[in-house]
Amino acid sequence: MTVPSYPYEAPASQALFDRAAAVTPGGVNSPVRAFRAVGGTPRFMVSGSGPYLTDADGREYVDLVCSWGPMILGHGRPEVIAAVQDAVTRGTSFGTPGEGEVALAEEMVARVAPLEQVRLVSSGTEATMSAIRLARGFTRRAKVVKFAGCYHGHVDSLLAAAGSGVATFALPDTPGVTGAQAGDTIVLPYNDLDAVRAAFAAHPGEIACVITEASPGNMGVVPPLPGFNQGLKDLCSENGALYVSDEVMTGFRTSKAGWFGVDGVVPDLMTFGKVMGGGFPAAAFGGRADVMAHLAPAGPVYQAGTLSGNPVATAAGLAQLRLLDDAAYEKLADSSARIQALIGDALNKEGVAHTVQKASNMFSVFFTDRPVHDYEDAKAAESFRYTAFFHAMLASGVYLPPSAFESWFLSTAHDERALERIADALPAAARAAAEATA
Ligand code: PLP
Repeated sequence: MTVPSYPYEAPASQALFDRAAAVTPGGVNSPVRAFRAVGGTPRFMVSGSGPYLTDADGREYVDLVCSWGPMILGHGRPEVIAAVQDAVTRGTSFGTPGEGEVALAEEMVARVAPLEQVRLVSSGTEATMSAIRLARGFTRRAKVVKFAGCYHGHVDSLLAAAGSGVATFALPDTPGVTGAQAGDTIVLPYNDLDAVRAAFAAHPGEIACVITEASPGNMGVVPPLPGFNQGLKDLCSENGALYVSDEVMTGFRTSKAGWFGVDGVVPDLMTFGKVMGGGFPAAAFGGRADVMAHLAPAGPVYQAGTLSGNPVATAAGLAQLRLLDDAAYEKLADSSARIQALIGDALNKEGVAHTVQKASNMFSVFFTDRPVHDYEDAKAAESFRYTAFFHAMLASGVYLPPSAFESWFLSTAHDERALERIADALPAAARAAAEATA
């Protein structure tokens, strides 16, 4: 694998990483941050402003990760900061109901038609975990269908991703998840309605729900083929199961109403996180009122949280959502299309086989000339080229996701100067990708 000798050029980050490794497993609080997929020193960031991040060594980067999606308005957007400051001065947590959480729920319900009621939580993982529990409690069934390559947070039963093939019972993908926890999870290939049909036929009356990323971004960007989500919804309806659309990543990013605003398929339950928290820990699940009525204290399915609906997080999220108007999504679409074109041009000039896949303004690059429809396709791409590409971009001051299997994210703050810096960095990165060897 050809990796530039970049690891030694970030001494302050390296020193922090060494300190971190002594007190935190692997030196990070979320694995992908450790750069293990690409090698080198993870950059410890000290500040962000608009489309830029500055690391501990004082180097500035154009940020194409945006905190994995939440920073859709860029870093330090004044209106969001003002809302946070205002909330903080009134108190940081009450453990009681408050108006901010009502206002955020109202804003979400107003934007997303199938969202009749929402419950606020603190992370996307909590949202999907709770939605699954609710689906099981509502249907009184145990089994859950998920798709290989879709990530729904580190929920025990949803970490099972192995077992391709129709209606395979998944084995736990990580030590610590027991066979019992994973045993009710059925993992199927993405974009394969026949596999879903077969699973329902093999397990009549047993499947509580099908959970899917509304448009997957966790195996790189692999959008649903036309009719796939509607097919899922129809199969669920025909078989008395719930269709759970995970919009943690796509929600309020891919349109004002998230991926629902793009394909119009009506889920029974939905999950949210990232953008709706404005950079703070806020997430949610919601959907049909008759299903949500089963949640405590209205109903018997228990779910709770000390910091749920936190006043600072809800203030940030609400301020961010209110700024996300049609013009914001048009700007995101325009910048995204321009960056995708720049990437394509640079890679074509170097003769590098690639496919840029997009879902609204989310996109990612696969080093293959074939379309990627599922996890197997994604894994078949020449990811070693991404490593070289990533490090060349980093060396030129552009911060990409440190893994080939992630979406790239941009913000409304990505302006002409930021785009120029990306354009300037791309030729060397394309060359590095061309020269990379497995
Ligand atoms: N669902 C999807 C689609 C995600 O992309 C993620 C995180 O990336 C999650 C759930 C989990 O969210 P969190 O990291 O906030 O727990």
